[in-house]
Amino acid sequence: MIERQVYLDNSATTRPYPAVTRAVVEAMEEHYGNPSSLHKKGVEAGRLLSQAREAVASSLGVSPGEIVFTGGGTEAINLAIKGALPGRRGRHVVTTAVEHPAVLNALGQLKEQGVEVTVLPVDGQGVVDPLQLQEALREETYLVSVMYVNNEVGSVQPLEEIAVVLAAFRKGGRKLLWHVDAVQAYGKLPVQPGLLGVDLLSLSAHKVHGPKGVGALYVAPHTQLHTLVAGGGQEHDRRSGTENVPGIAGFGLAAAVIAGEVREAAGKIFLLKKTLVDGILAAVPGAVLNGPPCCRENPCCAPHIANLSFPGLRGEIVLHSLEERGIYVSTGSACASRKNPGSHVLKAMGVKGDLLEGAVRFSLSPLTTADEIDYAVEQTAAVVHELYALYGVRP
Ligand code: PLP
Repeated sequence: MIERQVYLDNSATTRPYPAVTRAVVEAMEEHYGNPSSLHKKGVEAGRLLSQAREAVASSLGVSPGEIVFTGGGTEAINLAIKGALPGRRGRHVVTTAVEHPAVLNALGQLKEQGVEVTVLPVDGQGVVDPLQLQEALREETYLVSVMYVNNEVGSVQPLEEIAVVLAAFRKGGRKLLWHVDAVQAYGKLPVQPGLLGVDLLSLSAHKVHGPKGVGALYVAPHTQLHTLVAGGGQEHDRRSGTENVPGIAGFGLAAAVIAGEVREAAGKIFLLKKTLVDGILAAVPGAVLNGPPCCRENPCCAPHIANLSFPGLRGEIVLHSLEERGIYVSTGSACASRKNPGSHVLKAMGVKGDLLEGAVRFSLSPLTTADEIDYAVEQTAAVVHELYALYGVRP
């Protein structure tokens, strides 16, 4: 019998805040009008949309008119990447090898239309080199897409340095859009697209204790972006279709929490992650941390994601053994786990052999407690020792 449940798969999705669930239910029960309707019910629903738009905008330090609600992070990314293409003279994009499949597969579709894509390598920590980015830029580059925090290993890309490179490139009057997938950074690190000169930035509500199937794209003023979903002209004509008012209301609530708490939450989560990583590395012989070393001074280390390998053990076996003890983790990204067992992120970082097969991702959230982390360390050590004995592994 499972005695307790410790949810450490927050990069796959999070448990909605109770206030978010209440807001969703209330919107469905009470404010079910169509925001485009002219009567009272429509106006009420429209008010919920405006409040949520203001909350998301304020959490990013931008204007409400710059927020386009979408059906999730994947859709926001597709809108950014594909919507930026029409009308561009150049047909070249630069991205990194560790992007989420939403970015890589959207670009894969553009390749079929003749777009050239340069995929930058990363180092052993999963971090891209801004100088290599600079070298990859060409006259015909119309888009650069670099994620903020990697979803599998928690590497943080050097956005400030990239901003300097891109600002210098644009100085000569060259037109270039910069898209940042900030889905995993939002709520954990400061996300301020306006300060960095980011043109397009994608978010997802369900990674920050909001509802699933809701996201947002920040679109900087004067950005030329074509819609992918034509229709009634909702969302400033950038994403038609009657708005998901309950989901967006829930997202707005989650965003309001983020606006007030990012720094405090990041500090707390980081300490818990450090306890988890140090505890497991100390208690489990052969355990390896994939990704940036976990220390406060390391700017490449996100506060909430730890990816560890246990040599000789498949990640899936460790995952299910932990599940039996009520601990929920992941073998990598939830999206990649079935289709593609060998993580493209770990491969790009040079992780090989059984360390590649043995990766387990622990991901934390502001709701994670110290007690849960102590339990996770203790149980992970016990499980891995048992599995080492069972499979005759001598690390
Ligand atoms: N980008 C990153 C970095 C992610 O981790 C995810 C989800 O795992 C997405 C994009 C896609 O977001 P959504 O699940 O809302 O489509």
